[in-house]
Amino acid sequence: MVSAFTLILVSLSYSLAFPKPKAEGDISLPDQKFAEDYLNKFYPSILKSGVKTFEEKIKEMQKFFRIKITGQLNTETMDMMKTPRCGMPDVADYKFFPGTPKWTKTSLTYRILNYTPDLSKMVVNEAIRMAFNVWSNVTPLKFRMVTRGQADIFIRFAKGNHGDFNPFDGPGNTLAHAFAPGTGIGGDAHFDDAEKWTNSNLGFNLFLVAAHEFGHSLGLSHSDDRRALMYPTYRYVDPRTFRLSQDDIRGIQTLYGKKIK
Ligand SMILES: [Zn+2]
Ligand SMILES: [Zn+2]
Repeated sequence: MVSAFTLILVSLSYSLAFPKPKAEGDISLPDQKFAEDYLNKFYPSILKSGVKTFEEKIKEMQKFFRIKITGQLNTETMDMMKTPRCGMPDVADYKFFPGTPKWTKTSLTYRILNYTPDLSKMVVNEAIRMAFNVWSNVTPLKFRMVTRGQADIFIRFAKGNHGDFNPFDGPGNTLAHAFAPGTGIGGDAHFDDAEKWTNSNLGFNLFLVAAHEFGHSLGLSHSDDRRALMYPTYRYVDPRTFRLSQDDIRGIQTLYGKKIK
């Protein structure tokens, strides 16, 4: 009895010392936890802006997605948090490397280290090739696939922990992530193989997700323009009629200039 009583006291004082953020309506405890993890991952506190409270992070997230800024978890916010998305943060000035990293050469190589069982190798190769074309169509960049040895951009399918301190989370939510230009892991793109990868409108279209991730591989961060490929959440569009938004083109040409005719 005594130990049970102590336990209750301890948990009571814990909740007094760390008041849970107020939730609107009926946000469940698992959803609260989900929201905390989401905000820590996608809205990390940046040194120069100091540590942000939970409420400030919710506001920042609501502002980014242009939903009503309440600073509270509501269903609109939860729905947006549960939309399948890229694993990179939305904080605009958050970078894995200091400065504005970009490749200092225009001819880049890539290597696909393994394949998803969801698609044939040929279909994966084609989706990846087309995804690089999205960016080479509007810049002087050129991409060449290699099948052995070193490459600037390594592409992998992986599940859960896969050695870069950014574990994947199973089906849904985070779909993929990619690192800004640089040596080593810089530029590399990883796809969560717990997802169902397709070349259609079912599951997640590999071409569309890869084109977004390669934007990161080239140095772009997330855009809050809903029409942009670099918007963080997944949205299916027909790959045959896919076009980069003006926002994406402006971003990539700021880094690499226009395509040389
Ligand atoms: Zn992204
Ligand atoms: Zn990874």
